This record gives sequence, structure tokens and C-alpha cells, in this order.
Amino acid sequence: MIELPEVLTIAKQMNKEIKGKTIKSGNRGNSQHKWAFYNRDAEEFERILPGKTVGEISGNAGWIITNLEPGYALLLGDMGGKILFHQNDETIPDKYHLMLHFEDNTYLTVSIQGWGFIKIVEKSEVATDRHATQKILSPISHDFTFDYFHQLIKSYEKREKKSIKAFMITGPKKMPGIGNGYLQDILFRAKIHPKRVVAEISDDEIKGLYEAIKTTMKEAIELGGKDEEKDLYNNKGGYSRILNSKTKGKPCQECGTIIEKIQYMGGSSYFCPSCQA
Ligand SMILES: [Zn+2]
Repeated sequence: MIELPEVLTIAKQMNKEIKGKTIKSGNRGNSQHKWAFYNRDAEEFERILPGKTVGEISGNAGWIITNLEPGYALLLGDMGGKILFHQNDETIPDKYHLMLHFEDNTYLTVSIQGWGFIKIVEKSEVATDRHATQKILSPISHDFTFDYFHQLIKSYEKREKKSIKAFMITGPKKMPGIGNGYLQDILFRAKIHPKRVVAEISDDEIKGLYEAIKTTMKEAIELGGKDEEKDLYNNKGGYSRILNSKTKGKPCQECGTIIEKIQYMGGSSYFCPSCQA
């Protein structure tokens, strides 16, 4: 999945490559994909996109927001796959689910793997879009303080039995831009088992979790995202996850215990049964 560090990396690269370009034509791609979610039909995409100029591009949580002047914005997010820039048509992938063809004959394509949202909204709708806006502060914002995070965790009651994994990556209070990918390393660093009940986590553990979120995001952003994902130029990011499918069955780097895998809440969880209580 494209999580916050990948979003920021790609948004920065898009500002460099396509900001100021005018769209000659655009479409919903050449391939049907059941889990590509659009908010408009193909005709509307083909009608709205031509003649628009790419304005500022920003990253917010799991979303890349591209202003299309005048009056619109393209929202890409909650997505697995690739967002690629092409100097010419030779590198365009076989299957894609959005194409922008610019007047200088360069291109942007989006190819979804798994699922993803591609939306064109009016500018006035961006701030209230039900997918692209979050109720929780971004973990990299200045206002995401320990007190704020502590209060958020304490808002869960014991009877809810909500697990830490559920809290972090699902529901209205999920951590913006953090998905199942970075979650593995965050919980490993915080020494918390993915199934632990949120309301039963101690203050010391909340502190550790807060630090783990900050550290993991900072490191991954500096390294341009995960090495399992591609940037705008089809290059891998520089962040290697501590726990992933390749580390299952291998010794924990802290204590040597074998890393385990469980299927939990619609995705794999990897953990050290000794370090993560
Ligand atoms: Zn361990």
C-alpha cells in the first residue's frame, strides 16, 4: 500500500515533474479493475481533464491531492500500485487505470494493485471529501503531541475490546497514512503485540508507541518510502521493513526468537512472540 512516506515522496516528485503542465487529454485507463473506485464515469473524466493545468500537489495521510486549474482537484489514495511519470509513451505500462497526457507529450499513469480510489472533485469539495479527509491529526504534524495521542488512546473503554492493530489502521480514529505495512515495525519497536487491547496498554507503552510512530515515519520519509513500493520514476524506496513476509521464520534482530505470522484483521501480522507482549 502507498502509505504516508510514499505519498509525500511521490507528491514531491509530482510537483517537480508535472506542476504547471497542461493536460491535452485524460482518461480512466485501458483496463477494467473491480477495485478501482472512481467517483465519475469515463465520459466525465474525458470531458473535465483536457485543458486543465496542474497546480500545487500535496500529500495528506494516504492521499495525493493534485489541483487542476481552474476549479478541480484529482484525489488519489487508499491505494496499492504505481503512480508513474513518463517522458514519452515508451514506458507506459500495459495496464493502467488513469492516464494524463500533457501538452508536451509527457504522461502520468496510475496502475492500481489491490484497490484504490481515483476521484475528480470540485476544489470546494476537497476539504470535506469523505475519503481524503481525516478526523485525526497527521502523525507528522506539530500538533500530534504525546498528550494528543495519549488522550486518543484513553478514549477507548475496556469493554470495547478494540485491539491495537484495529485502532491504528481501521475506523474513524485510525492513524492517518499508516497502513498494515509500517504498522509491523511500529508495533515491533513499541514491543506491543498486534492483538493487545488498546484500553489495557500502560502509559509507558503509550509513550513507546508514540515514539515508534514518530521514529518510523521520520525514517521512512527520509528514505523515500518502503523498498517494496515504487516512486514516480519506478525506483524503489530506501526503507527496508524490520518485519515483513521475508522475515517470517527468521530470528528476531533483538532477541533471536523466531518471527511469527498470523492472519489477523484482513492482513498478515508479523511479530516477535518474545519481544512483543
Ligand atoms: Zn524478539
